[in-house]
Amino acid sequence: MRKKIVAGNWKMNNSLKEGLELAGRINELLKMRGKKEADVILAPPFIFLSDITKMIDPQLISVAAQNCASEEKGAFTGEISAEMVASTGATHVIIGHSERRSYFGEDDRMLNKKVNIALKNNLYPIFCCGEILNQREKGIHFEVIQKQLENGLFSLDSSEFSRVIIAYEPVWAIGTGVTATPEQAQEMHQHIRGLVDKKYGSSISEELTILYGGSCKPSNAGELFKNPDVDGGLIGGASLVAEDFISIIYSF
Ligand code: PEP
Repeated sequence: MRKKIVAGNWKMNNSLKEGLELAGRINELLKMRGKKEADVILAPPFIFLSDITKMIDPQLISVAAQNCASEEKGAFTGEISAEMVASTGATHVIIGHSERRSYFGEDDRMLNKKVNIALKNNLYPIFCCGEILNQREKGIHFEVIQKQLENGLFSLDSSEFSRVIIAYEPVWAIGTGVTATPEQAQEMHQHIRGLVDKKYGSSISEELTILYGGSCKPSNAGELFKNPDVDGGLIGGASLVAEDFISIIYSF
């Protein structure tokens, strides 16, 4: 059975002290609440990865980076390699978040390199895809996502692809308070699973975890997660408040 996952993307928020307190509180609440259906991932800023991986219970929480470099090593001042991420104890890496695509000019070719480097370093890529509002209004959102997947992921072989998690994040829903309806999320997730089925076959597509991201919060997580192809969420704003994040984790 495929995994359900709730992942928190902290983006560029919190001091080290605040980040440790937040991770500690989430760890403590998970321990108190007990059995959950979803695996939990925290994606703090790079600079906290090592401290956070040391303080959380790895049975309860996995840790992800929010990005990694598209090159292996060398003269790339300010970059953080996949190897460095893995050396902190982090196990996952978010690749292709829409903020990276739009503010930092990360294109499909670069994202494909990042996915390959992440896999080579035994990290699980959480590959983000999503259309902007204008593309949805024009009715081309299914094609946009298809292109992003073909260019970013479909060069992988089956065993590589089976380590990938996909996050569908409509850009118009990220940080805006506007959430995709459960129907919109389901139809896109079904579309994505169908594309994967065509490319890699049904055993891989049925095992693929597809997360929804975009203003997911305690009040709408249950409705979104009820859908057969929505396997959890990538959570931004609501992952910064321990109680909200916990409530989303227990929304299945
Ligand atoms: C995100 O950045 O991945 C995200 C989904 O943000 P938010 O939940 O704040 O919309």
